[in-house]
Amino acid sequence: MNALSDTKWDAVLIGSGISSLTTALLLQKRGMKVCVLERIQKPGGYLHSFYRFGHCYDTGAHYLGAMEPGQSFWKLLNYLGVYDEELFVPLNPEGFDHFTFPDFEYAFPKSYERVTNSLQTLFPSERAGLVSFFAEIRRLAFLFPTYSMQEKYDQNALIQALELPLWTLIQRHIKNPQLQALLCAHCGLHGVHPEKVSAGLHALMMDSFITGSVGMKRGGQPFANRFVRKIRENGGTVQTECEVLELRSNKGSGTIDEVITSQGSLTSNWVISGIHPKLLLPLVQGASWKPLFQSRIERLEESFGFMGAYGVAKNLDSVDPLKNYYVFGSAEVNDWFQLSGDKPKINAAFIVGSRRGAKDDQLPYAAHWPGHIQTFEKWYGTKTAKRGQDYLNQKQELGEEALTFIARSSAWRALPTQNLQMAVSTPLTNLAYNGSPDGTGYGILHTLDHTGMRALGPRTSIRNLLLTGQNTLFPGLLGASVSGLRTAGSLVGIRDFIREIRLVETPL
Ligand SMILES: Cc1cc2nc3c(=O)[nH]c(=O)nc-3n(C[C@H](O)[C@H](O)[C@H](O)COP(=O)(O)OP(=O)(O)OC[C@H]3O[C@@H](n4cnc5c(N)ncnc54)[C@H](O)[C@@H]3O)c2cc1C
Repeated sequence: MNALSDTKWDAVLIGSGISSLTTALLLQKRGMKVCVLERIQKPGGYLHSFYRFGHCYDTGAHYLGAMEPGQSFWKLLNYLGVYDEELFVPLNPEGFDHFTFPDFEYAFPKSYERVTNSLQTLFPSERAGLVSFFAEIRRLAFLFPTYSMQEKYDQNALIQALELPLWTLIQRHIKNPQLQALLCAHCGLHGVHPEKVSAGLHALMMDSFITGSVGMKRGGQPFANRFVRKIRENGGTVQTECEVLELRSNKGSGTIDEVITSQGSLTSNWVISGIHPKLLLPLVQGASWKPLFQSRIERLEESFGFMGAYGVAKNLDSVDPLKNYYVFGSAEVNDWFQLSGDKPKINAAFIVGSRRGAKDDQLPYAAHWPGHIQTFEKWYGTKTAKRGQDYLNQKQELGEEALTFIARSSAWRALPTQNLQMAVSTPLTNLAYNGSPDGTGYGILHTLDHTGMRALGPRTSIRNLLLTGQNTLFPGLLGASVSGLRTAGSLVGIRDFIREIRLVETPL
């Protein structure tokens, strides 16, 4: 029928998020014939960028960590053959993550030395605690073999790091409530309360940003396109507008024998799912999930949905396009995680200006804040661009409310917040473009119950069907990409990958 159907694939990957793209390139390194299938027109999942008002906007890719030459993500991308320095721009080393609380503002500078020194100046009574806290963050991050890129690792120490709640770690070292709140502020990057998230995973993320943050100079889409080009150069296929509709098992085989898509059916030795596991469950026909596996997936709690506002600000010289701005309504950590009611109060928000800076005094910006899919219950089942004026009005109102909240940050104080031309996305938008249940951006809630030995991991109860993606490990582009390393590694051996990645040469 067509090349998709005529080929016997070694691995078919469902979805083209960074996790599937990473897995595909790694399997190609071991000579496997791979085919990546993507439901929508553009590849990349949350790497997706779009054009509006003559500007390019990113959805789920604003910055990456561990991207200095020689660091782990930099090495992984070089190993995959997709690193291109034209795609990235180092964030401001004097302050890349700017946090605004009602009573104080602080920007995390690059390097532990600078972070520790600047915080010691602000919190002199915490001098010793800051030194020991950041030493712990660094130590915990490097326990992960897929971060240190060392094949040998201390398994017991790693398990302890994974089991330790972040809040316990912070309390061990820091007493000042304001400083405690500041050290929890990066929780916005995974959406889990500090009492429920693993200190180890949080440390890995913090370390990657403190030591090597870069922004997407030209947006996430060209980055996704680099992966696609490389997969095709290596003889693989990436097929967009090709939705996987069914994974069919012939009678009694207990494995997936046929992948039925909107463009025909495929056969493959392995099927690797980079989509949310709740979307995967109903796709399987003719084979049974183990009841334990199925009920575990069905009971998974989701992280929060995302709202987004995309617009253009004029004459906003106070904004540094090489900084990320976070705004919190209080320094009380519990407030950040409350998200209930029809119109939940905005307690936390994130905004960035275009990494390319302002042009003719016009600075495109993207803002995000947690949103509740229930707020949009009325429009469940309706199609994008066909939801009517009420929906548009409600979105606009919420967008303006969020920008008013964001204008608490000194850098964004002059941001006009009313009668704006802007595009506003809701959890329904994420549902439509990405399929994420509840319109979440980070997938399942990555609490301690779904971490380490209890993380979903690559294996399923169907022998030739594997999982990859942020839901199997940890959210974020680094987390999702490393989940691809774990999945490919579980098929063809992870130690050799880690050794080969470590050996990637760093330029002098
Ligand atoms: C607002 C927001 C901002 C973020 N900012 C950052 C950031 O600055 N830095 C960072 O590191 N991380 C960020 N993240 C998180 C990061 O984007 C994600 O963790 C990561 O991209 C997830 O990748 P993935 O491969 O797991 O899946 P996804 O990117 O979710 O990809 C899944 C893909 O599967 C496709 N699909 C679904 N069903 C089917 C089907 N039946 N058939 C075929 N295809 C299907 C979807 O269309 C999608 O393309 C952000 C996320 C959000 C939402």
